[in-house]
Amino acid sequence: MYVIGLTGGIGSGKTVASDWFTKQGIQVVDADVVAREVVQVGQPALLQIQQQFGDWVILENGELNRRALREYIFQHPDAKKTLENITHPIIRQSIIQQLQTAASPYVILVSPLLFETGQTHLTQRNLLIDTPEHLQLHRATQRDQISHQHIQTIMSHQMPREEKQQRADDIVVNDGELAHLYAQLEPLHQQYLNYAKKTASM
Ligand code: ATP
Repeated sequence: MYVIGLTGGIGSGKTVASDWFTKQGIQVVDADVVAREVVQVGQPALLQIQQQFGDWVILENGELNRRALREYIFQHPDAKKTLENITHPIIRQSIIQQLQTAASPYVILVSPLLFETGQTHLTQRNLLIDTPEHLQLHRATQRDQISHQHIQTIMSHQMPREEKQQRADDIVVNDGELAHLYAQLEPLHQQYLNYAKKTASM
């Protein structure tokens, strides 16, 4: 399966870009969605988290108490690693399974942490949605109705834009209208179809 990694910072336009690929008939696996799926009620990762941290991480309805866990991790930085040791291998397995069963000519793996988490081992090429920081800030605050400061804090914890630019194979700059973004995606889509065809015939 030919896999394109799609990444970008908060509010950069990953979702609008991946929605465009979906419209072209390309299957999209979203690492954030998978990360939520694996801790749903009844999933083994949730049980492991409960065993590791205690019953307080589970809400009365059986779901993960994300807020309590987030606060705990904020106060106990080592716990982040412990949590990731449980969830990352399970997320990875689920992503691999979804990529393998995709039925389109190629498949997109959307992940805000594509480079940070080594998910590039699962991809053949990586596409960066590259957006000037003032636009990221503006679009994310408009969408989420949260403060500039909050978004800035999240941005400061993400990999710097320059580093992502160096690691990406393809870059589209999302600094104009949506039509401008889609016009840049179209030739890439054609390229990816060609790469996938060549790989399949090898
Ligand atoms: P996150 O990582 O926070 O989930 P994202 O990278 O998926 O963000 P989107 O949700 O696609 O980003 O885009 C952020 C917001 O900006 C959305 O409301 C989207 O509709 C809007 N947006 C993205 N690109 C453009 C554009 N070129 N013109 C106008 N609005 C845009």
